[in-house]
Amino acid sequence: MKFVAVLSLVAALGLAQTSWPVQEFETSGGVVKITPIQHASVMLEAGGKVVHIDPWSSGNYDGQPQADLILITDIHGDHMDPKILPKISKTGTMILAPAAVAETVTSATVIRNGETKTVGPFTIEALPMYNLKRGPAPGKLFHDKGRGNGYVVTYGGKRFYFSGDTEGVPEMRSLKNIDVAFVCMNLPYTMPPDEAADAVRAFHPKIVIPYHYQGSDLSVFEKALAGSGIEVRILDWYPKN
Ligand SMILES: [Zn+2]
Repeated sequence: MKFVAVLSLVAALGLAQTSWPVQEFETSGGVVKITPIQHASVMLEAGGKVVHIDPWSSGNYDGQPQADLILITDIHGDHMDPKILPKISKTGTMILAPAAVAETVTSATVIRNGETKTVGPFTIEALPMYNLKRGPAPGKLFHDKGRGNGYVVTYGGKRFYFSGDTEGVPEMRSLKNIDVAFVCMNLPYTMPPDEAADAVRAFHPKIVIPYHYQGSDLSVFEKALAGSGIEVRILDWYPKN
């Protein structure tokens, strides 16, 4: 069958044609491959192991490998989705999550803010993620301190940070030696791009990749970090299937 014919067949069947902008990073343990699935959903592959972070069935997981490790940041539906877990799990898959998530995802092993666990070749640090001022009503926050976890995943001497849903909290600003940072920015739930850029300047990762950014003007983020020496990589986290 000719290539054009295949394309038209795909179009006729209405099949999704997602091409993920996969990122590769050299480490002392070999390449770390990171696939932006959608919104806050990320897949990290290294040393023959697969880590899914905040898997959500809104993303396209067709053809993606099952997880050795799943990290969940929080209870909201775009981060904790019990429906997707059987699809991307296999015998022995470990799930690390905060206690609030483990109330629903009962197979999860709890990791709390400030704790570190080693899983296979990965070191996982759980960090606070929370709102400082934004919430659904006066006196309430979208994300209360202590409920959710951001994560730093270390592999082969490189440190990958996944912020979860947070504002530019002190625990983010004081991070050290981050090679690649995935940082959220969206209103009303987290923070606007200028605040995200200010927090990123404070901990100065080598590379920053905005994620969980629906509705945000990323040019504001890029401009605010121009000349900082921090590489900003803009990826499409919202492919139209
Ligand atoms: Zn979210």
